[in-house]
Amino acid sequence: MEAREVFALGLGLSAPWKLAGQRLDVEKRPHELHLEVVADRGALFACPECGRACKAHDFASFTWQHLNFFQHHCFIMARVPRVDCPDHGVKRVAVPWARPGSRFTLLFEQAALVLVREMPVLAAARFIGITDKRLWRIVEHYVARAVARIDLSAVRAVGLDETASKRGHNYVTVFIDMDRRDKPVIFVAPGKGKACVAGFRAFMLGHRGEPTTVAEVVCDMSPAFLAALAQGFPNAAVTVDWFHVVQLFTTAVDQVRKAEARGRKLPKAARWAVLKAAERTLTDEQRVALAELEAGGFATAAAYRAKEMLRWIRQAVGPQAARWRITRFINHIGLGLAPGPLLEPVRKALRTFAQHVEPILQRWASSHSNARLEALNGLFQAARARARGYRNTATFLTIIYLLGAPLPDIFNST
Ligand SMILES: [Zn+2]
Repeated sequence: MEAREVFALGLGLSAPWKLAGQRLDVEKRPHELHLEVVADRGALFACPECGRACKAHDFASFTWQHLNFFQHHCFIMARVPRVDCPDHGVKRVAVPWARPGSRFTLLFEQAALVLVREMPVLAAARFIGITDKRLWRIVEHYVARAVARIDLSAVRAVGLDETASKRGHNYVTVFIDMDRRDKPVIFVAPGKGKACVAGFRAFMLGHRGEPTTVAEVVCDMSPAFLAALAQGFPNAAVTVDWFHVVQLFTTAVDQVRKAEARGRKLPKAARWAVLKAAERTLTDEQRVALAELEAGGFATAAAYRAKEMLRWIRQAVGPQAARWRITRFINHIGLGLAPGPLLEPVRKALRTFAQHVEPILQRWASSHSNARLEALNGLFQAARARARGYRNTATFLTIIYLLGAPLPDIFNST
């Protein structure tokens, strides 16, 4: 096999295109390998609209960046004709080694995608020698095309959660298929709230899904979500994820602790002691801190007790037992809280909790694991890391799809 045949194979060249020449430019660092591709004289080209074989009307020169050839940067150059189709007029023809409008070969783009699955986009861009902005454009193209092919006809249970690309900035709402263990993400919408639910509903309808067959939705206690879900998914039982209940009270405990620490010195190690998710993981120092909080009559101790009582509720074996424990919790904690502004965050959390008793209870009837939404946090963290340096709503959304969605066709170049 001749050298030019090897190159032709790598490029996916087919008639009438063939490799005409190659030149190594040693003036440049790294060296540049230039491959010239030409079409047979007098060849006919397919109209990009209808495929009709037409004569070349005129030519223009284009350059594509190709995969590095060992340490050399590699470029393809070709004069690409326009055809004059009787039906569609003068059109630039498509070349087999690149998609229309791209300045990179298909092989280059696919190699770039492989890298982006494994490392941050910025690092991948440096590695292949292009700007991260250009690499993002490639990634966005392929991800959008693969997302367009997602099939939602089998979706019966949906979970949703929101997150920000940076603290307080660029919110996105992520929808997952609760029945998929691997790659569960099926839709990502910019923002958080009502419009995201409406967006998901429209997306479902456009991807062979049927909102009325969704039997369960798992979410947090956002009033906007809950109202929109009742409207857009009328047959779905809504479950408030337990993870969000714990989060609600954990946030309240932290607010009480911060406010109290401004007026009174708290025991050392109090911060992490009251935030720990499981009592058994407490260090000795944290145990001492908890005892001191309790003995000193700190408001933080009262907030902590409320949060800890959630554990007792969660251990209820059925919906009836859970309802009884929830009622006890609301009464006991609500009446036991000392008056004054310090414990207001707990009272507020309690009010939110009391307003959502039914969807919270639904978890005892649900067959879906609560761990699914919690596991999304790992995905969100990975997505933030991959998009570092060029992170906005669009890039964050793209990378969540790339890492978390079932996109089996992403490497398919057609
Ligand atoms: Zn045509």
